[in-house]
Amino acid sequence: MPRTPVWLVCEQCEGRNYRTTKKGGEGVGKIEVRKFCPKCRKHTLHKERKGK
Ligand SMILES: [Zn+2]
Repeated sequence: MPRTPVWLVCEQCEGRNYRTTKKGGEGVGKIEVRKFCPKCRKHTLHKERKGK
């Protein structure tokens, strides 16, 4: 199973702060994780977004 590269995007400022990979395939939920955003200067919810 290939691993798909995704961005973790700050929900508040849309900043692409982190890159990660996830396993491709069906039935894989979207990543939502609280991480520190340097732009917001606080922990915010980051959601996955596909892209290079
Ligand atoms: Zn942010």
